[in-house]
Amino acid sequence: MIAEGGVIFFKNNVPGDSINGGDKVKNVLRGHHLLCTHGFKGMGYSSGFVKVMTEIVADIRNEGADFPIQIVQGFDEACQACPHKGESRCVKGVDSHEHVLSMDERVIEHLCLQAGETYMKSDLVQRTAVKVEPDDLDRLCAGCSWLEYGVCKEGIRELKEMMGRNES
Ligand code: SF4
Repeated sequence: MIAEGGVIFFKNNVPGDSINGGDKVKNVLRGHHLLCTHGFKGMGYSSGFVKVMTEIVADIRNEGADFPIQIVQGFDEACQACPHKGESRCVKGVDSHEHVLSMDERVIEHLCLQAGETYMKSDLVQRTAVKVEPDDLDRLCAGCSWLEYGVCKEGIRELKEMMGRNES
């Protein structure tokens, strides 16, 4: 079922509004945010970023909503609200742009996805639950400052338990 009116994180998503160089006409999520959405507990880089991420997370975790998402290796809706977003690069640190791109690439590859392709949210969540173990984050998210808090592994653990319950 496609959610009607329930998807709020793409509310600024209008044709002509460019995220990655082209017209932004689809819901867009960068690869590594497919993992972040399951462990997010309200921490973030600024109040604006936390607000947008909270909206994204609510939509991803809403079991009653399904909708297409284009997976990218690059800026997405959350990045637009991040204080570290530069003109065309993440400017949090010297190597941060390359670092987040590498996390995108690893997650996209791990989930057997293609950057630029569009998938249903339910498919993306299912793939994450099936293909990602909590300790996989040590490799997939290597170098991320949030990893040490443990909430991201906990989020994957909870996702797997929830999906297991739903199938039994
Ligand atoms: S460790 Fe970092 S990249 Fe990995 S899920 Fe957590 S916040 Fe996202």
